[in-house]
Amino acid sequence: DTALEAREICLSFGQTPALRGASVSISRGEIVAVMGPSGSGKSTLLHCLAGILTPDSGEIVFAGRRLDTMTENERSAVRRDRFGFVFQFGQLVPELTTEENVALPLLLSGVRRTEALRRARPWFERLGLRGMERRRSGELSGGEAQRVALARGLVAAPEVLFADEPTGSLDSLTGEQVMELMVGAARDQGTTVVLVTHDPRVAAYADREINVRDGKAAAIDQARR
Ligand code: ADP
Ligand code: ADP
Repeated sequence: DTALEAREICLSFGQTPALRGASVSISRGEIVAVMGPSGSGKSTLLHCLAGILTPDSGEIVFAGRRLDTMTENERSAVRRDRFGFVFQFGQLVPELTTEENVALPLLLSGVRRTEALRRARPWFERLGLRGMERRRSGELSGGEAQRVALARGLVAAPEVLFADEPTGSLDSLTGEQVMELMVGAARDQGTTVVLVTHDPRVAAYADREINVRDGKAAAIDQARR
């Protein structure tokens, strides 16, 4: 049961080719780690799969529909309503409280404030953030901020969670905690996870690795479950 697929995608930034015919197929509920050297095209591949970038050629298929040929409005609706995002350094809105940051995707989807905050609440318990609901996000430690970013990525129960170096700014113990929480929550809600990392310890949490070299992707089958 395929959740998300890239078929022979190519994308250049000016004269620089970032992807040169990359293909990947990701099953529903699968946790995949995209690995490879710096500059190999990992982030570009993630952004294409997530409908943030549109490839110059090739196809992106999500839930049986072409993502790359949708209008920008349709694509942004898919990102908002069906995808979740966690990036390095969290990218929280520092002026908002942590509970407002977690509730943000729901608010942007049109959920009313009281309801959005109610749905954000259980994530504080689950991610070990109890009592931090009213703090400004700018006051959090790196590990706390990244757990808040994870809660925000998962709060709307996305079908796919995209994570670009989600532990990149953390020490290894804090990174392990974030990965355990991410994988546990994703499994519980059946969320597919596409994770970009250069860290093999992070990739070890995935079901499977996809290796990117020179803008091409190769699946490495590793049954780890
Ligand atoms: P990785 O995530 O594996 O480090 P990227 O996907 O970020 O690789 O980059 C792939 C290639 O595309 C690199 O040569 C990089 O310099 C180039 N690139 C990525 N983003 C841009 C951009 N916005 N503008 C110009 N070149 C870019
Ligand atoms: P980098 O890989 O260079 O560190 P990021 O992964 O932080 O960059 O973001 C790269 C692109 O993804 C940017 O164009 C940014 O606008 C977009 N982006 C970041 N966060 C989100 C989000 N939550 N939803 C949609 N697009 C996002």
